[in-house]
Amino acid sequence: MIRNKFFSAEEIAPRTFRITNCFDSHERMTTYSYLLEGDERAMVIDTMFGYGNLKTFCRELTDRPLFLVNTHYHGDHAGGNFDFDECWIHAADIPYLQNMAAAVNDPATFRNMRYEQMKQAALPENRDSILPTDFSMPHPMFIWPVWDGDCFELGNRLVEVIKVGGHTAGEIVLLDRTTRICFTGDACNSNTLLNLPGSLSVEEYLENLYHFKTFQPAFDHCHGGHEDFDASIIDEGIELCRRVLDGTDDHWETTGMRGGVCYYGMARIPQETALGTRYGRSDGKRFNIAYLAETVRKTPKTPRIL
Ligand SMILES: [Zn+2]
Repeated sequence: MIRNKFFSAEEIAPRTFRITNCFDSHERMTTYSYLLEGDERAMVIDTMFGYGNLKTFCRELTDRPLFLVNTHYHGDHAGGNFDFDECWIHAADIPYLQNMAAAVNDPATFRNMRYEQMKQAALPENRDSILPTDFSMPHPMFIWPVWDGDCFELGNRLVEVIKVGGHTAGEIVLLDRTTRICFTGDACNSNTLLNLPGSLSVEEYLENLYHFKTFQPAFDHCHGGHEDFDASIIDEGIELCRRVLDGTDDHWETTGMRGGVCYYGMARIPQETALGTRYGRSDGKRFNIAYLAETVRKTPKTPRIL
């Protein structure tokens, strides 16, 4: 385990590190970034909240040139992007990331927003030691688009981009056939949120899960932004989405993270674990999905006027 005041890293496979903020509350939500080292360069996947300088910490893990790829634009995955000078992200998520990048014009507000997010996610005993001045400072940076099927060559290590839009329109996962790991961001997990502004319909997400499944023989593990699973989580996702579309899911009503009614495919059963309360399913399976009644089926797209 390698650590500094802000981060700790664990080598989960050869030349493959999982990084987390030491201050995270594991009960509420653990958030991960990853570093994959090749012979020529090293890929950083996601940047968490922007608390502490992630790039500086990555320098303790590798001396290869670093580059950053985001699985999607959300603040717990791209909050530390400003530690870098450029990033790669799916084209469909770029407008949302640019909204965040507009913080360049108002760095104080940006830092305060990240500060509040981190305080909420932190262990109670750590909250008072979190300082607004320890957050990434916004500055102009390059954003490059990636598309489904693109590959990053790290030097005798190729990482493939697979688009699994749903949670966000441009959500991607990154497949490393060398270690048989797929880095899945928030694409497919026990709390797959499709009830957010910018999420796709369940119907579109299911199409993307079928696409994702065609790669399943190439990996054993899904290492996500908050959780990890074996590759069969995709099958559970497909099964539950089909039930949502058929109207045979639990249609379990609750209040979403940002208020308003949303539904889960399966009732969420609180379960006590060593890390605190987790939400599981009564049948022991792991995948779950939150959706809105009006976004089950896809609606006709408004054409892009060029
Ligand atoms: Zn997310």
